[in-house]
Amino acid sequence: MSVLAVTEHRRGELRDISFEIITAGRELADELGEDLNLVVIGGDVDGFAEDLNRDGVDTIYTVNEGEEFNHGIYKQAIEQLHAELDPTALLTPNSVNGLDYTPAVAESLDLPLVTDAVALEGGQPVEVTREQYGGKVETTYDVDADQYAISIRSAEWPTAEDAGDAAIESFEADIDHDAIGATVNGFEEVGGGDVDITEADVLVSIGRGIEEEENLPLVESLADTLGATLSSSRPIVDNGWLPKNRQVGQSGKVVEPDVYIAIGISGAVQHVAGMKGADTIIAINTDPNAPIYDIADYGIVDDLFDVVPQLIEEFGGEAPDV
Ligand SMILES: Cc1cc2nc3c(=O)[nH]c(=O)nc-3n(C[C@H](O)[C@H](O)[C@H](O)COP(=O)(O)OP(=O)(O)OC[C@H]3O[C@@H](n4cnc5c(N)ncnc54)[C@H](O)[C@@H]3O)c2cc1C
Repeated sequence: MSVLAVTEHRRGELRDISFEIITAGRELADELGEDLNLVVIGGDVDGFAEDLNRDGVDTIYTVNEGEEFNHGIYKQAIEQLHAELDPTALLTPNSVNGLDYTPAVAESLDLPLVTDAVALEGGQPVEVTREQYGGKVETTYDVDADQYAISIRSAEWPTAEDAGDAAIESFEADIDHDAIGATVNGFEEVGGGDVDITEADVLVSIGRGIEEEENLPLVESLADTLGATLSSSRPIVDNGWLPKNRQVGQSGKVVEPDVYIAIGISGAVQHVAGMKGADTIIAINTDPNAPIYDIADYGIVDDLFDVVPQLIEEFGGEAPDV
């Protein structure tokens, strides 16, 4: 028996969740006393397998079918590999792709499925923790089954970094191409798509404390001066001041920068859900009791309209008049 974890790539690049699922999978496999096997499906499978060869992985199965994600190929390949390996746990990313094929695979294999796991405790039964009510409540499910499927949330486990010595095996899946109903024809970026805030090392993030759209150049100037990327809380996007792809949070993007500077952001649970994985969190807020200070590493309790111009000047920029 083993843990089988499915990796994910898009447009030629492995996604961070592929390395997080190695950590989650290894922890679970250790608790179960089993091997950790990965599968990578489609694209440059040999190159991906090399990158995925991290410490703790026993075998990486490559399925050389298609370039981008395809529901039909993933479903058939995972079902066939599952039949071959007979794993205790099937782990998948709780991503748009993962949520597309995991329920179909679970239903087809008659596996109990828990989605969006934020913590796992291996054993019989396995304990799977999920968040509910926007992160206000955690619920732990006991899955009392010999085999099960779990999709895991991104940014909850650290990425596996150290090189490994996994075996790499090609798995010849017998794909019925006539059974594939849909294909990915291409990608179209949503407005402002040149910027991917999930890739930024430093994020300057602005919230309702900025008061008016006319004041945004102030934080844009700070971001420019620091070589950072601008992101925001939801009200800024709801007001139409920044495009949706800049929103951090539960209904926005989950980010993991080295530094996250939260300016005029209160730290509501729905926002924190998207940025708590940042290495260093710096908050600027007039309210010393703002919840953002519960998770901030450094804080400046002051008016952003006084602090931000000083920071810009300190780092060699010129603050605009707002
Ligand atoms: C289903 C659901 C999903 C959601 N998804 C998201 C999400 O993805 N992302 C998200 O961000 N929110 C999300 N929200 C909204 C969330 O609940 C909060 O309303 C939102 O995060 C608050 O944004 P904010 O911190 O910018 O504003 P506020 O909560 O209004 O906070 C503004 C902060 O600015 C400070 N401030 C004011 N003036 C100044 C000044 N001059 N200098 C310094 N500080 C100042 C204030 O003290 C305050 O703390 C969601 C809500 C729901 C119900």
